[in-house]
Amino acid sequence: MAFQSEFADNRKLVDCANKDSDHIGERFAPRGPWVVLIKKALNAWAAKQSPAVRQIPVSDLFGADTGDLVALYKSRQTPPLVNFAGKIDRVVGKKTVAALDGELPRRGGVVPPPPPPPPAPSLTMSALAKRDAATSILWARGAISGLTDTRGFIANPSPLAPIPPRLVAVTLEALETHFHISTLSTSRIPFIDKILEIYVKSLGILVGNTAFFIDDTTSAESANGTPAHVPLASGKVNFTPAFRERSGTTGFGPGCRAAMVLHEPVHIADHPAASNGANHINENAAAYARQPALNQLHNAHSYASFAQQVFFNGNDTRFGIGKPEQ
Ligand SMILES: [Zn+2]
Repeated sequence: MAFQSEFADNRKLVDCANKDSDHIGERFAPRGPWVVLIKKALNAWAAKQSPAVRQIPVSDLFGADTGDLVALYKSRQTPPLVNFAGKIDRVVGKKTVAALDGELPRRGGVVPPPPPPPPAPSLTMSALAKRDAATSILWARGAISGLTDTRGFIANPSPLAPIPPRLVAVTLEALETHFHISTLSTSRIPFIDKILEIYVKSLGILVGNTAFFIDDTTSAESANGTPAHVPLASGKVNFTPAFRERSGTTGFGPGCRAAMVLHEPVHIADHPAASNGANHINENAAAYARQPALNQLHNAHSYASFAQQVFFNGNDTRFGIGKPEQ
């Protein structure tokens, strides 16, 4: 017979396949490179068995463990490989060496590539949000700086510098765009103070997000595909499997995620007013531009969008769930 595996390169195994007297066992030619090949083939077979069969150390000595495995191998063939007396023995003869040849890959054939390593574990939803919070924190700090300077500019008008500095000008414009400050009938200072208070609380939640951001795979919101939400009065921002990086037509881009991560803490910082439907108007809805200042004061969407406009030096980007690809 002709071997298909590297058995073909070993003279002793070729002889074993052709002559009964060249069999191999604990008492027949028990040491040599052919034993290494026999053990490789036995181990290749053992690795495929279910339940698992213990493999043996590969050496050039045909020991008792080799004899045991040969006997097991023979007994598991269909039909079992029995000797002239109809018994399973511990010796590799013509039939066994031919069968073992089939356990090894074809000589010179393409060795199958190793299985790909398992993919790196992807971030959980809340872990992704914690990473995204770095951006949300920058935006919130920008908003707080702009509001602080603007409050000072309004509270202490300088007759010598009637033109506001750039940050104050940007902030005043963003206050109009997202909080409609011109619709106020009362003083602007306490209004700005209230916005500042909500930003400072939200920033605290973003900085201490480990205590606030959790995964949610079980709620009705999760089943509906809502990426992030704060169950009423729970004090926790829930991130669902829909909250993930953009891929194809699902998930959300980094700007969109950072906006959501800034939006949700406002629901905790300004509870319960921020969760009142009359206040909670999306930044892309037509009604957004018509909301009075006292409603926008409690609109989480206003906080996410205002912070961007100040941070991006007057650019009204409105990253958010309405722009999932950004
Ligand atoms: Zn919301």
